[in-house]
Amino acid sequence: MSSATRHHVLILGGGTAGITVAARLRRAAPQLAVAVVEPSEVHYYQPLWTLVGAGVFPKEVSCRPEADVIPPGVAWIKDAAQEIDPQQQWVRTAGGQQIGYDWLVVAAGIRVRWDAIPGLMEAIGHDGVCSNYAYQYVDYTWKCLRDFAGGNAIFTQPSGAIKCGGAPQKIMYLADDYFRRKGIRDRCTITFASAGKQIFAVEKYRVALEAVIARKGIHTRFRHDLTAIRPASRQAVFKHLDTGDVIELPYDLLHVTPPMGPPEFLARSPLADAHGWVEVHKETLQHVRFPNVFALGDCSSLPTSKTGAAVRKQAPVLVANLLAARQGRPLTARYNGYTSCPVVTGYGKLILAEFDYDHRPAETFPFDQSKERYSMWLLKKYGLPWMYWHGMLKGRL
Ligand code: FAD
Repeated sequence: MSSATRHHVLILGGGTAGITVAARLRRAAPQLAVAVVEPSEVHYYQPLWTLVGAGVFPKEVSCRPEADVIPPGVAWIKDAAQEIDPQQQWVRTAGGQQIGYDWLVVAAGIRVRWDAIPGLMEAIGHDGVCSNYAYQYVDYTWKCLRDFAGGNAIFTQPSGAIKCGGAPQKIMYLADDYFRRKGIRDRCTITFASAGKQIFAVEKYRVALEAVIARKGIHTRFRHDLTAIRPASRQAVFKHLDTGDVIELPYDLLHVTPPMGPPEFLARSPLADAHGWVEVHKETLQHVRFPNVFALGDCSSLPTSKTGAAVRKQAPVLVANLLAARQGRPLTARYNGYTSCPVVTGYGKLILAEFDYDHRPAETFPFDQSKERYSMWLLKKYGLPWMYWHGMLKGRL
């Protein structure tokens, strides 16, 4: 072990959740020594990838140097966490550092399992197989849309938790709109092949999105889980989750949302629940076995839809409770499961879904948010990115 350091608060992950918490801690308790462990040189605003895949922005707009988002006064340990010992209160990194902590915040995101679908690794990035779920591939989605001259366009959604449950369908609505503008829509069959049972979990938005799907003439195949891709013959293979049937669908364009899971170093740590997520109390965000550990965002066990919008509401709760616990006070801040999914339904159209743990709408605006609106599109395109870089990551929103 090359070095031994100790911090009052150690944050694992410098993505949306880690930076938001670091910035809030700096504001609330500047006397604390806070460090962020983050291996990446680049910080991504991933919600923009939906618009990048549809040609609205170049992908470079979605990223900033990590150094620019680490709050002043917070130490950046440019390394990857590899092992956690919550009894001894240290984290070991891939670079061999052992870092001690008084309080640990786990915010290491979700692992996109590109290797979980046989054929995906070979196919992705060429011959019509694309995905918005990686910076590396997202501009290829836009190329696929531009090059598409008709045929079968299939958009998949896997079983299990993913980040932004709406993103697999958003790019499909944009593709439909793009093909119409290009004048080729009558030569296209668009299919949403999803492991889910329905288009959206919250009834109010489900009803609205079913109307969008009917209007656009999109085919839906629910309970269809992508199990393999055969790039040579351009076949996507699905398993029907109720009947067990194997279904092969020919594709000319295949947008894949891969299965996802917790980062491996967390899944094998004592912090994990049975599924590998960091097991925290769903309202206080405190770990259920280790009181000096908190978690939020995609890597946490919080039973809500994994989004940056959810992180925006989780971070202030976590910081308030961590500081209370540190002072021996009761944990009074509560997270209600708030999450949001801005479902883009075309260029210039968006349904802003917002809901809580009970799938009750928790809307911000005084109008019916299940209606497609241009104003909400502008919010997604300009308002939310601005709020992200200048508000949330600065600990202000
Ligand atoms: P991330 O922001 O992914 O950050 C995790 C960080 O942990 C990364 O920086 C990573 O490098 C780091 N890390 C990984 N392993 C280690 C390790 N071993 N040690 C230390 N650090 C590590 N959300 C919305 O709210 N609205 C949307 O419209 C929306 N659309 C989306 C569209 C797409 C295509 C995608 C991909 C995501 C979208 N999201 C959206 C989801 C949103 O981006 C995530 O939910 C959010 O980024 C979660 O924050 P996080 O900090 O938990 O994870």
